Amino acid sequence: MPPKIVYLDYAASAPLDPEVLEVMRPYLEAVGNPSSTHAAGRFLRAALEEARQTIADLLGAAPGEIVFTSGGTEADNHALRKAVDTFGISTILFNPTEHHAVLHTIEDLVHEGKIEAYPIAIDTYGRINLNHLEELLKKHPKALVSVMYANNEIGTLQPVREIAALCQQYGALYHCDTVQVMGLGWVRVDEWPVDFIAASAHKFYGPKGVGFMYRRRPIRSFITGGAQERGQRAGTENIAGIVGMAFALQKAYKQKDAYLKHLSTLKAEALSLLQTLLPEARINGDPSPEGSHPGILNFYLPPEKADDLLLVHLDLAGVCASGTSACASGSGHPSHVLEALGLPAEAAMRAVRLSWGWGTEKEHLKLAMETLRESLLSPTA
Ligand code: PLP
Repeated sequence: MPPKIVYLDYAASAPLDPEVLEVMRPYLEAVGNPSSTHAAGRFLRAALEEARQTIADLLGAAPGEIVFTSGGTEADNHALRKAVDTFGISTILFNPTEHHAVLHTIEDLVHEGKIEAYPIAIDTYGRINLNHLEELLKKHPKALVSVMYANNEIGTLQPVREIAALCQQYGALYHCDTVQVMGLGWVRVDEWPVDFIAASAHKFYGPKGVGFMYRRRPIRSFITGGAQERGQRAGTENIAGIVGMAFALQKAYKQKDAYLKHLSTLKAEALSLLQTLLPEARINGDPSPEGSHPGILNFYLPPEKADDLLLVHLDLAGVCASGTSACASGSGHPSHVLEALGLPAEAAMRAVRLSWGWGTEKEHLKLAMETLRESLLSPTA
């Protein structure tokens, strides 16, 4: 059994909803392959297509526009690499605070000589400058633009509707990593002219290792082999994961108002605790409710006040939190997101990201803030 913990790392991964696990169970146990034409295969195929229809309906998409993947990383890789391939794109305009699933793919594409890439200017909250994007689009109207919906480290929301409108105006394609907001029920592709999105089930109480890409127009397969996913993604489908993901997303869209209220109440509490218990903390990203993810708060403590072991202090107190994205932690490098905001490395090494969800109570946030206060080199209170 894992030790008793206070889990404040929902942006890294939300716990699997027990109801989702129950929905998945028969498909974990079922015999057969969804591509087989016999009864066992047809049973799985029907479940697969039902899950696709469910997700498409929630998003206002057509079922054929949803491609199941192994998660957000694969969806980002697929959209970027195969949009470049399929449409002969030679320029990518990107937000420098994207997840590494996007940034490293772009770096590789540049390295392979397939594209040129230009970063879009950002402000101190990490929000892109729309005027700069427009200047770049005037020079590169046939570009692919990659700007996420909400940043996974600092929570800053991007002006995704304005970005999509600009891309449409100039004839560019727009890829949006929606991994962090998919569980908030905000995404409707029929109301928003985005060309590609990436999503991941474990961010909305579904299982890890499954996600999907939405694409408005067909692109080539990223993983080649069999004819699964209408020839767009080879490999036997993760049927239990896909069924669980569709159920989790349906539940998220049904409960979105209550969820937003729950997250926003906790955010107000976290901000108030920060002000009283850690007045020396500085928030990274947009602190306003309108401009940020309601379930993420990132801040740093000045080096004269705190050592660089804040996450260790939290861990010893049983609090699970992050300083950077889960994928980058352990790399020993300060976060590229905080670096892009202009934060010096010594400040970035003293950054903490708290992120919460259904299982979080105000007491959990209090424990985290009190633990940090006790760890200060010269406590204030
Ligand atoms: N994009 C963003 C914004 C994320 O936060 C993450 C995961 O942290 C990913 C992509 C990668 O998703 P996955 O873990 O499903 O590969």
